[in-house]
Amino acid sequence: MPTIIDTHTHLYEYSDASEVLRQSFAANVSDVIALGVDLASNRKHLEIAQMAPQDKQTRLHIALGLHPGNIAEGEEAACFTFFREVLTQKTVPVIAIGETGLDYSYKWVRDDEAKKREQRDIFEKHLALAKEFNLPIVVHSRGAWRDCLSMVKASGVSKVDFHWYCGPLDVLGEILDNGYMISCPPALEYSPELRRAMEAAPLDRILVETDTPVRGWSPKDVWKSLRLLANLKNTSEEETLQIVNRNAQALFGDDCRGDS
Ligand SMILES: [Zn+2]
Repeated sequence: MPTIIDTHTHLYEYSDASEVLRQSFAANVSDVIALGVDLASNRKHLEIAQMAPQDKQTRLHIALGLHPGNIAEGEEAACFTFFREVLTQKTVPVIAIGETGLDYSYKWVRDDEAKKREQRDIFEKHLALAKEFNLPIVVHSRGAWRDCLSMVKASGVSKVDFHWYCGPLDVLGEILDNGYMISCPPALEYSPELRRAMEAAPLDRILVETDTPVRGWSPKDVWKSLRLLANLKNTSEEETLQIVNRNAQALFGDDCRGDS
């Protein structure tokens, strides 16, 4: 039975993440990446990962990050102390840095240059960490696509996923020229901006994801992302699956290889 990889989830949101991983396994999801957004969520993901490996459960991979929407007093210092501890003590394997990036669309940020600068400072630290530990980075870029791209390029980090990319096509062109990837959630069903981006990018640069539990999606809905993408690209689901699984492995490494 073919299996699939969900490259973007927030499992900390569930009271019973193990149950979600069992249901995902039953739905032929081989791997999920769980991304933290603040200190508590990163800690929770580590706890989930450290629980005794259950039989018939989707493999869980950890990404460490402080989301631009979760910046708060003291959070940055606490997060980066924790990230460094996990990365150096290798408490659990870390597959990526994220979710991080910039979001200028929040109303408390839109007209506040100091808040934007604060986001950039924190994103910069994530990029430096990814570079230091040679890890891929997962970037949230809403409303700040151009700045995210400029910062990524300047950082020298080469393995990059612009998650749920629905920004301008000229920025997308540069994302692709630089060898970075974008990822596609089930929102492809209704979002014209997402559709435009996925049309413009070649399949060998696209990952599939759910951003679970956004909009009530769970990791099994990554199959929906795949079906919509295959349809959009006029390519069979089998071939599309092989390509997106290969892309995930290329970006996140052999631990995230699916079962095929
Ligand atoms: Zn997310």
